Amino acid sequence: MTSFVFAPLPQPSVAISGMAERFPVRRVFCVGRNYAAHAREMGKDPDREPPFFFTKPADAVCDAGGVIPYPPLTEDLHFEMELVVAIGRGGADISPDAAESHIWGYGAGIDLTRRDLQKMAKEMGRPWDWAKGFDRSAPVSPLVPAARIGHPTTGRITLSVNDEVRQDADLADQIWPVRDVVSLCSTSVTLAPGDLIFTGTPAGVGAIRPGDRLKGMIEGVADIAIEIGPRA
Ligand code: MN
Repeated sequence: MTSFVFAPLPQPSVAISGMAERFPVRRVFCVGRNYAAHAREMGKDPDREPPFFFTKPADAVCDAGGVIPYPPLTEDLHFEMELVVAIGRGGADISPDAAESHIWGYGAGIDLTRRDLQKMAKEMGRPWDWAKGFDRSAPVSPLVPAARIGHPTTGRITLSVNDEVRQDADLADQIWPVRDVVSLCSTSVTLAPGDLIFTGTPAGVGAIRPGDRLKGMIEGVADIAIEIGPRA
C-alpha cells in the first residue's frame, strides 16, 4: 500500500440526482466559445475560430445550492451558465458518432470568471488560469444520468440573477454540439471516467456582487442555484 507524508485530501466529487453515490471528478475541461451570440459579445467572429479549451482544477468544482464567497483579486466577477457533460468511459480520438457512449450524464454548471483578470490575460498574452480556475469557480448541479434523460441536444438554457433573466438561449444554438465537443477534446487528451466538460455559455454574461442570488435552468436536465457571499 502506498504511504503518504500526509493524508491525501478527499476526492473531488459532484452529487447525483436521486442517488446517494457521488460522481468522482477527475479533470474539468471548458469550451471557450460555443454560442455565436456570446462570441460576438466578447468581440470575436464565431465563424472564424474553431473551439478551444481551457481547464479548471478538479477541486474548483463544488456542489450548488450554497453560498460561494466573492473571490479575491477581482472587481468584475461574471457568471456563465453552461451544460456540463460528465464522462463515464474514457478514450482518445473518439468519433462524434461514438461520443454519446462515453457520456455518463449531464448537469448544469456555472463557469464563474474573474472577467477583469481574463481581459488582462488576453491583452498580455498570459494564461487564463487565474481568471477561470480559482477556488469554488465551478459550482455544478446534481448530475443526471444519461440512462435517465438521454442525450439532450435541444432545450432552453437560462440564468437569472435576483429573479431577472440574464441568459436565455437553447442548447441547439451551440456552434459545436456535445458530440463534437467530446470528440475534439479527446483528440487533445485521453478522456477518463470522471472528466467534466463545461460546454460553453450563451450570450448575456455579466457581473455579480455579494448577496446576488443566481438561478439557472437547463430544460430536461437540471436546475442550479447559488448565492454569492461576502468577499473571501
Ligand atoms: Mn465558460
